[in-house]
Amino acid sequence: MTTRILVTGGAGFIGSHYVRTLLGPLGPDDTAVTVLDALTYAGHPANLDEVRGHPGFAFVHGDITDRALVERLMAGHDQVVHFAAESHVDRSIADGSAFVRTNVLGTQTLLEAAHRAGTGTFVQVSTDEVYGSIDRGHWPETDPLRPRSPYSASKAAGDLIALAHHHTHGLDVRVTRCTNNYGPRQFPEKVIPLFVTQLLDGGRVPLYGDGGNVRDWLHLDDHVQGIELTRTRGRAGEVYNIGGGTELTNLELTELLLAECGADWSSVRHVEDRKGHDRRYAVDCTKIREELGYVPRVPFDKGLAETVQWYRDNRAWWEPLKRRAAR
Ligand code: NAD
Repeated sequence: MTTRILVTGGAGFIGSHYVRTLLGPLGPDDTAVTVLDALTYAGHPANLDEVRGHPGFAFVHGDITDRALVERLMAGHDQVVHFAAESHVDRSIADGSAFVRTNVLGTQTLLEAAHRAGTGTFVQVSTDEVYGSIDRGHWPETDPLRPRSPYSASKAAGDLIALAHHHTHGLDVRVTRCTNNYGPRQFPEKVIPLFVTQLLDGGRVPLYGDGGNVRDWLHLDDHVQGIELTRTRGRAGEVYNIGGGTELTNLELTELLLAECGADWSSVRHVEDRKGHDRRYAVDCTKIREELGYVPRVPFDKGLAETVQWYRDNRAWWEPLKRRAAR
């Protein structure tokens, strides 16, 4: 029997990769996908061109806070994989209202509709940023949430509301918390595509503070692998950290990007640090590895080289976005 999956935010960076993977040649049989996406500045219909002709694919242009629409859609679906979010920390510092609206109210709207419709598995795609900042060691899923930016606070609120729907209503909610992703089709405001597109144009790149902030970089193939394992083999009411990529300071990342783009440190300008900038994120992935058999597969050097090549080859994708952002 066909599993009908409602994928929110499926026109964005990670959601579209998930849909392309699910409906691609290596995806599961008998799967139909409806993407629900509001096509904010971060959503691109072209990200779904590869699957547009697939008989199991449908696209709905709409907002996850639209209760009537969400209830109507939910009734025709067996599962939900929820990516839709405002996702850029710097924007949340400038104005957090859209973050609370989408990441909290939107998540609540989906959960309530899923509960009413008797929907099965609901995967809440979340982030390691909900744990806060850690100088040493790695967070297990049991660590308390100490989000420190309006973005991470809104995601943490979404996670807690999702888990509350499991405890209160018995909804089959599963939460994933992943580290920083990289790969093709990431909006050129996030550090890797921002730096790559600036450097390919011969421009300079802004490095925050002392460049000592540490992130664990994971290729989006491996994030999608972790989400699929959680959807198909995970347990209701559980949280699964996803990571195990490559830990780098921003200085180290910048060095690698300069080398990939044939530039040097004269292309870097030091700028004032992001307000409240979290120093280090690091998740413990023992649970998803041991319980679900997750193993990250994309080596960072290969993944980064391919990503930079994708931006070289696909100027038609990112140049209009940068022009629009500059207006
Ligand atoms: P993105 O910003 O590229 O895409 C977000 C998508 O959601 C866009 O297509 C946008 O149009 C859509 N959207 C926004 N508001 C909406 C609304 N109200 N209704 C319907 N659609 C709406 O984000 P991304 O980087 O692909 O992240 C996807 C998810 O993964 C997010 O929940 C994010 O918190 C999480 N995550 C991202 C990363 C990362 O490194 N990018 C890491 C861990 C977790």
